[in-house]
Amino acid sequence: MIALFGGTFDPVHVGHVAAAQAALRLLRVAEVSFIVAAQPYHKMSDGQQVTTAEHRLAMVQRACSGHSRLLADGSELNRTGASYTVELLERRRAEDPRERRVWIIGSDAFADVLNWYRWRDVFALTNFLVFERQGFTSGYSKALEQWIAPRVCQRVDGRKHGQVMLSREQLPEVSSTALRRRLAAGEPCEHLLPCGVYTYIKKHNLYTGRPVAP
Ligand code: ATP
Repeated sequence: MIALFGGTFDPVHVGHVAAAQAALRLLRVAEVSFIVAAQPYHKMSDGQQVTTAEHRLAMVQRACSGHSRLLADGSELNRTGASYTVELLERRRAEDPRERRVWIIGSDAFADVLNWYRWRDVFALTNFLVFERQGFTSGYSKALEQWIAPRVCQRVDGRKHGQVMLSREQLPEVSSTALRRRLAAGEPCEHLLPCGVYTYIKKHNLYTGRPVAP
């Protein structure tokens, strides 16, 4: 079984690393791959400078560098056009048809899963490990509750797909959005960033709060 942790990682933070480490323990997988998403157009509207894929990947590489079982995967970044999770999972299946997969996700992102492109196929291609996101209080829709009810498992069975493991792990309450704001405001945030990431941000002058050029 392989564990995939997709995200924008703009920037990667201690919540991401804590989730990946908890996943290693809960899933008993050898490694967790951080899959850096291609440029997320829907996330460029907060008036901040766009962080290039190269910078986001470099930060993830730094976050993973001290952990032999955390891997930075930039393979999605060379792709053009829309990038859908279902297509990523199909590519992974083509690479190894016998391997089973687990998609690591926070509850805020999982709440939207029934709106994903070809979401039924997504469930056929992966399991989910869902971490409660502190501060995410709106909960799941009735449709999602109904869909996952028969699929919730205590422990992911590595021979199947379509299972949903709901973790009660307490992860740090931190988000990339909050970090971008804090960095732009010059507030201390070194403690919220994995080792080496803060230095990288400062060196490259990222998240300075400069607006995106029209
Ligand atoms: P943003 O604030 O820009 O939405 P983010 O902090 O959610 O960013 P992403 O890169 O979008 O970071 O997150 C990747 C995945 O990690 C998502 O599934 C998200 O729900 C999950 N995640 C991020 N931070 C946490 C956290 N502190 N606890 C649990 N899950 C988290």
